[in-house]
Amino acid sequence: MSSNSQAFQAIKGTYDILPADAPTVLAVREAFAAPLRRAGYGYIETPVFEDINLFSRGVGESTDIVTKEMFAFTTLGGERIALRPEGTASVLRATLEANLHRVGNLPVKLWYSGSQYRYEKPQKGRYRQFWQVGAEAIGAEDPALDAELIILADDAYRSLGLRNFRILLNSLGDRECRPVYRAALQDFLRGLDLDEDTRRRAEINPLRVLDDKRPDVQAQLVGAPMLVDYLCEGCKAYHEQVRELLTAAGVAFEDDPKLVRGLDYYTRTTFEFVHDGLGSQSAVGGGGRYDGLSEMIGGPALPSVGWALGVDRTVLALEAEGITLDAPATTDVFAVPLGEQARRVLFGTVTQLRREGVSADIVYGGKGIKAAMKAADRSGARWAIVAGDRDLAEGNVQLKDLSTGDQTPVALDVLVTTLKEKLQ
Ligand code: AMP
Repeated sequence: MSSNSQAFQAIKGTYDILPADAPTVLAVREAFAAPLRRAGYGYIETPVFEDINLFSRGVGESTDIVTKEMFAFTTLGGERIALRPEGTASVLRATLEANLHRVGNLPVKLWYSGSQYRYEKPQKGRYRQFWQVGAEAIGAEDPALDAELIILADDAYRSLGLRNFRILLNSLGDRECRPVYRAALQDFLRGLDLDEDTRRRAEINPLRVLDDKRPDVQAQLVGAPMLVDYLCEGCKAYHEQVRELLTAAGVAFEDDPKLVRGLDYYTRTTFEFVHDGLGSQSAVGGGGRYDGLSEMIGGPALPSVGWALGVDRTVLALEAEGITLDAPATTDVFAVPLGEQARRVLFGTVTQLRREGVSADIVYGGKGIKAAMKAADRSGARWAIVAGDRDLAEGNVQLKDLSTGDQTPVALDVLVTTLKEKLQ
């Protein structure tokens, strides 16, 4: 190694999922996925990067995600691409490209699981690479779909044992009523004392100003016109049906007239799952209806609804509620060969055990007996197979119960069946 070599570290805002934490992460992803599979959602994977315009058009030119947080770059071939900041635009692009909306029934129900990238200011619960499991129901306008997705997310969180979360619900209106509201809100915002950035945002996407977390802005927003008072009859009736379906399913929610969320494409139903043990990064999942997105990215009218649940923050929510999920299966059997001949034989035994579904491991690197027995203890295995060349010459190995220390000789030719019986 050269003298100026330095150990590498994970890039700011990223972290490694190590084996000790991996079972929880995998269990969270599985808990999100299981209800979706049962409800007829098909799994889809899209590339981690896309044409940057897909996101600027789809997610929205005025969102922080696009203007400030995109991991964008030019490839060696001169293409402008970006790491995906969210999943919906990509899934819809893939649906249109593969004509999924033409070949089967509508809605096309899809789910995905993967990493997302946003150049945010890192803190606990907010990373530059994070994981989401998402679901999209594409090409149908039906309050039952909006309700279904909220119920499935609720089921997913509950199946993990989480209880201290709330569902916030709102309607953002449609192309009929939202423009009227937008104009009224803009009129109101123009009369306020706002910084230049915020004034510009008020012109491009005034609803986002409602989402501003700064107290001085929030203070000025008291008395702002509220979208609920502007919803057209169609939106009102639709929203009422979503609410009724949720109530009938026993899913509690809170009406939150200020909920707008950070992406431009939402229409009508929007919702967020917030956990009360997470401090400022409290949103563990969210989504809503996006009836206009398909047309924004060059497709036909395909009213759709979807959500994305945050894996990283759900893991933190489990910690906050003191929930530990079932410990992962560890090694059942650990082999300790004492000698060259024994090593060859036990390596074969371990291979056979693995092929027959028993988790087995062996000591590596020519350790002495003391270090080898320590490795066996550390592995968490229930049984150790200890054998020297002399045992093997007699056709035997020693089978040691690592929890009691008892040791008995077992004939090599019945070892695998004996272990399988003991482990049942
Ligand atoms: P969004 O795509 O912004 O609607 O986010 C959906 C969910 O993804 C949020 O509720 C969070 O749980 C999670 N999420 C969003 N941004 C981040 C981030 N930077 N770090 C960790 N989780 C995130």
